[in-house]
Amino acid sequence: MSYYEQAVPPVRDQRLKIGDSFAGSACELLDCAKAGCMLRGNRMFWQTGACQMGLTLMMAATVEGAAIVMHGPIGCGTQLHALSVQTNKGKARRGKVPSPPAWLSTNLQESEVIGGGEQKLRETILYADREFRPQIIFVVATCAPNIIGDDVEEIVAQVGKSTAAHVVSLHCPGFKSRVVASAYDAFYHGLLRHLPLEPEPWRDFVPLDGNSPQAGMERKKYEFQKSRTVNLWNATSIGANDEDELVRLLGALGLKVRVFAEYANADELRLVSQAALNVSMCNVHDDYMLSFLKEKFGTPYIVAGMPLGFADTRRWLCAIAAHFGLEREAGRLADAEEASARAAIEPFLPKIRGKRALLCGGVVRVGSEALMLEELGMNVLGLRAYHYDDGAEPIFEQLAGALPDIRVAVSNQLFELCNQVKKLKPDLVISHMGTQGTLAKLGVPSVQLFDADKSFFGYSGLFSLLRRIAFAFENTSYQERLAAHVKFPYRDSWYEKDAFYYIKNQER
Ligand code: SF4
Repeated sequence: MSYYEQAVPPVRDQRLKIGDSFAGSACELLDCAKAGCMLRGNRMFWQTGACQMGLTLMMAATVEGAAIVMHGPIGCGTQLHALSVQTNKGKARRGKVPSPPAWLSTNLQESEVIGGGEQKLRETILYADREFRPQIIFVVATCAPNIIGDDVEEIVAQVGKSTAAHVVSLHCPGFKSRVVASAYDAFYHGLLRHLPLEPEPWRDFVPLDGNSPQAGMERKKYEFQKSRTVNLWNATSIGANDEDELVRLLGALGLKVRVFAEYANADELRLVSQAALNVSMCNVHDDYMLSFLKEKFGTPYIVAGMPLGFADTRRWLCAIAAHFGLEREAGRLADAEEASARAAIEPFLPKIRGKRALLCGGVVRVGSEALMLEELGMNVLGLRAYHYDDGAEPIFEQLAGALPDIRVAVSNQLFELCNQVKKLKPDLVISHMGTQGTLAKLGVPSVQLFDADKSFFGYSGLFSLLRRIAFAFENTSYQERLAAHVKFPYRDSWYEKDAFYYIKNQER
């Protein structure tokens, strides 16, 4: 049975060759991944990690016209309060009405954990449909119902027959995966199983008599437009500024661009099958959904890394252009854009040249940014990827070719980051959201690896990122003062050990 036919999606730990515990060089990491030894990496000690449900929720909360039913204890949904600020901004920035998603919780108690929570779930879905009239009701299945064995799919199937909304189950219990990126698959699995992804007659088009001249004209016009339409797949780490930049660049090649799946609504998602090409901006985000769209609708897809910096943006543009026979146009566009961007970033280069940076975050992004910053004259001391899987192989092949000895760690562990920063003493850390406070307490300036309110991709993104890096060096007194007054909970003996002392090769 294919993954897409299963009621519950696989987690990445099952679907891919994954590693989350490694330290060595880029070449050693590739050798290890190819030999399968990444699977044996483990730690003798772990600090807490993130929960895949949090990321699935971040994606679901962006969908326009959706209500969210959290099936679990009340605490699992608390991040929705904070999320609505970001999603409202994201909606407004994309020309949509900023309104936070209505969210409800089945608020499972001890009695439901013993007797089952299915009845409460049924009632909550019906209440959400009646009270809020959403287009979509996302049912988020957290740890508790998965442990007690609630049949969430059966409830969704039964209740979905009597609701006006599409009821979409999202199976993302935190305990089931060590890889937060499983969240992408959980979200897409819900969409592809429970939402219509094809246009509907009268709603999306007027069905005409098939033999009339008007129908022939309309069909030809439609087919031409479809042959020039590209779906871009965003994710939580890709903001509106980045979408705008890529739409601008592809628009300059004469392509029509639609952006999915965040910030779309059910009406827009029905058009997902009506494109000539699907394009992912990250090997880790979308392969699950894009493979499905290829299997179901025959739409080819391209996963050509992230358009970060001159070389990768050109490579990304040319890969898409090649699909449409527009290679020459893409080359000319990249030449012109690079010329103006090089002039624009010139003032920042002396400020960043020779500065020593540590990068940490998503596996593809850190690899791509390391190459870009080295090319611009920074000294990348090392990078830390939160996990590693086969999707990252292309960027690590490039990395191993250009910087074979660069230190690479596969780690999402804060105690290892603290140890590394103390030892390496970088001038700057470019790091994943959520670590800036720790880095400031360590006395090091930092720039966020991604930020939905800022630009990173393409030429305007490069300019914006370099400006932020240069700015981070202007005044570091905040970090210095903070570090002088903050004590971390680790013993001095921890800093004397190797940062990856606890990583061991062992069977899980
Ligand atoms: S790990 Fe489980 S219980 Fe904890 S927040 Fe995530 S889904 Fe909820």
